[in-house]
Amino acid sequence: MGCARRWARQCPEWGYPRIVAPFQIRVFGDPVLRQPTQDVTEIDENLVKLADDMLVTMYEAPGVGLAAPQVGIQKRLFVYDIGTGPHAVVNPRLSAHEGEWTYEEGCLSVPELSWSIVRYECVHLDGWDLDGNELSIDADELLARMFQHECDHLDGMLLLERLDKRQRKGAMKTLRRRALGLPDNDGSDHADLENQAGSDGDVVSGDAAVDDTAPATR
Ligand SMILES: [Zn+2]
Repeated sequence: MGCARRWARQCPEWGYPRIVAPFQIRVFGDPVLRQPTQDVTEIDENLVKLADDMLVTMYEAPGVGLAAPQVGIQKRLFVYDIGTGPHAVVNPRLSAHEGEWTYEEGCLSVPELSWSIVRYECVHLDGWDLDGNELSIDADELLARMFQHECDHLDGMLLLERLDKRQRKGAMKTLRRRALGLPDNDGSDHADLENQAGSDGDVVSGDAAVDDTAPATR
């Protein structure tokens, strides 16, 4: 898995052509994103290869997390790297939570949009790694948020379902415009403008890129 990271990070620096991600990330409207996943029954070389390919796809996006349904695979598996190196979690389950934290959150499957979303500040995650070792992780802030975001994907849920009524209305309007091939914003709706993520320098958690230098609210 270390190799996935090296490839994705170093190729542009060394002037090689950008690698082609093994998977195309599925986006809103694809029914695979709405289906709950099946537990992994065997950790074998195929699963390791899948996780490796998912990591390459994630780094290439770029993102900090990627769940199997986002590449069209109905397995309970996600990969992540929030700056601590590549990780994979097999059959993850959230078992405890505490506190609330509001933070800007985006999703690789709903590209270029983000919203301020309330989630638990701390969670406990159980699962297995790719060597079959049991994982038991206490997570807070960005890691906790990403775990909640990816577990939602594995339950067939998108961050759109975590939006409040007003955010959801703006989001659906933008996504309908996209489906029609129109620009995201017609300039008439303040809510849309507010929900529109820009390009560089965005502060986004979830599984889109993260800039953790920005202020957080809680
Ligand atoms: Zn996502």
